[in-house]
Amino acid sequence: KKDSAVKYKTIEEKTATHPCYNCGAHDYARMHLPIAPKCNISCNYCVRKYDCPNESRPGVTTEVLTPTEAFHKYMEVKKKVPNLSVVGIAGPGDVLANFEETKKTLELIREQDKEVTFCLSTNGLMLPQYANDLIDLGVTHVTVTMNAVDPKIGGKIYKYVHYMGVSYYGETAAAILMSNQLAGIKMLTSRGIICKVNIVMLKGINENHIPEVVKKVKEIGGTITNIMQLIPVKGSVFEELPLVNNQEIMAMRKLCGETMQQMYHCRQCRADAIGILGSDRSIEFNSCHKAADT
Ligand code: SF4
Ligand code: SF4
Repeated sequence: KKDSAVKYKTIEEKTATHPCYNCGAHDYARMHLPIAPKCNISCNYCVRKYDCPNESRPGVTTEVLTPTEAFHKYMEVKKKVPNLSVVGIAGPGDVLANFEETKKTLELIREQDKEVTFCLSTNGLMLPQYANDLIDLGVTHVTVTMNAVDPKIGGKIYKYVHYMGVSYYGETAAAILMSNQLAGIKMLTSRGIICKVNIVMLKGINENHIPEVVKKVKEIGGTITNIMQLIPVKGSVFEELPLVNNQEIMAMRKLCGETMQQMYHCRQCRADAIGILGSDRSIEFNSCHKAADT
């Protein structure tokens, strides 16, 4: 229960100091805690020995922390990084495929810090199941990667989804994923949570479909979309997929900007990124949770 004498930051105030949601907040720092190694779907641009490329820079293998280690790391970073305003969890797998670890990590931090903003990114498969728990944990900003709203197109992007103990493939997999993404985002936005949707622009696959995805995001209350370049990962199904060029990405953002706000400054950070956007301090804090333990 909140102490009525204490005034906590509103979601609007948290957005104002979140460097990813507000370009004007570039002096504020965020940190990602890599506590989520498992994933429950298979995207054709991913190889699971690396970070989830839906939010993080692929080709980077981040050390995975337990919730307790993550908490110690947070306390260390908080001492040394001024203006730390956001704690995010962005992998290295999917946050909600590791819900217990996510919950424990956020609870430990919230006990010590009532103010810091909680931000998560997910593929959205488990959002309908966990959306209310996330809100109870104090999460205010959620990113969902949604590359299509048509199962025919989605069927070309996802190999499978593991859902409620069953594996689904192709268009069926895509249909389950998409309907959960849409339902989950709606649950969050209807309760005032800020949702960003990442869309990976895939040549010959979803490039002409993106405006439709953006329209849907707007309709269900999303705040911003982030149309991203594919970063090819060796060994993935899309390893050889030709890339859209920067001009094409910018043209698509401009076109979709007529529908809703677009993100232009995403750095596709690592799953253990620390600091202000564009100047990563993650190496400096590698294994610092161990020092804190002793
Ligand atoms: Fe890889 Fe992320 Fe897709 Fe999971 S959600 S398969 S970690 S890109
Ligand atoms: Fe922000 Fe993009 Fe980095 Fe996520 S990946 S922390 S949205 S800049």
